[in-house]
Amino acid sequence: MLRTFSLLAFTLCALVCSTARFVPAQLATAQTQAQTSRTKIVLLGTGTPITDPERSGPAVAIIVDDQPYLIDFGPGVVRRAAAAQRAGAMGPVSKLTRAFVTHLHSDHTVGYSDLIFTTWVMDRKEPLEVYGPKGIKSMTKHVVAAYAEDIDMRVKGLEGADPKGAQVNAHEIKPGLIYQDKNVRVTAFRVRHGSWKEAYGFRFETPDRKIVISGDCAPSESVVENCNGCDVLIHEVYSEAGFKTRPPKWQKYHSNFHTSSRELGELAARAKPGLLILYHQLFWGMTDESLMEEMSRYYKGKVLSGRDLQVF
Ligand SMILES: [Zn+2]
Ligand SMILES: [Zn+2]
Repeated sequence: MLRTFSLLAFTLCALVCSTARFVPAQLATAQTQAQTSRTKIVLLGTGTPITDPERSGPAVAIIVDDQPYLIDFGPGVVRRAAAAQRAGAMGPVSKLTRAFVTHLHSDHTVGYSDLIFTTWVMDRKEPLEVYGPKGIKSMTKHVVAAYAEDIDMRVKGLEGADPKGAQVNAHEIKPGLIYQDKNVRVTAFRVRHGSWKEAYGFRFETPDRKIVISGDCAPSESVVENCNGCDVLIHEVYSEAGFKTRPPKWQKYHSNFHTSSRELGELAARAKPGLLILYHQLFWGMTDESLMEEMSRYYKGKVLSGRDLQVF
């Protein structure tokens, strides 16, 4: 298994956070080091439906050489990609030509029109290729139809936009290998996310890293099987302490749809990732620090609570 990369993280949070946590010299050093791997992970958005201004909607970019592969497109996705570009972590947003959607919950898909049309205006000339569960074709058709007037104006008006960039090829997937090119093999696997018929996690195998992302899920054995000693596991989580403050109706919902810190600790101990990154964290009054303290009770491996625009 490929585990030769040196695990380095840096944050570009200074660009978007009100209080910078890293001074520029540290940022520059970490940036140089992270560039030694062919594969980078950029946490574009670590949020949930909760409108935390420091956490954009769920979106992660895996970048191999200079080609990004986007997982989910929550609100704010293209602005966050532009922030990552400005910091040198990825190329222009017009390079966002491949996207994979874990499931069709709105917090993961509200940025769809942004992804399609902003990247087109910013010079994406080839169609967007999108892979996701049943329903993604219908969603795509309706989103594109909703912007018919805009497309017409940009193509036929003085902008003279290339209509190819407004095209989206939506692919409805089944578990198994769903995408392959010279940089990456992408395998989709089912996860348990409450009553959703189809919710997926993805395994990305690149020339130098094996990365698994859970999407939204309650504890799912498929995550353990697909990680199986992977380099990086990016997993959703909720705070066990925060959960206790929730009303019974919501406790029932969250325990069916999501994964607690305790459950994730038990799962990660068997999945054995080189690094566990928490994202889509439901804090309910807790902080990154207290969530990490919870995790340390249940998991002895390397783990960190992800923030927007961190790069690994
Ligand atoms: Zn979600
Ligand atoms: Zn969800």
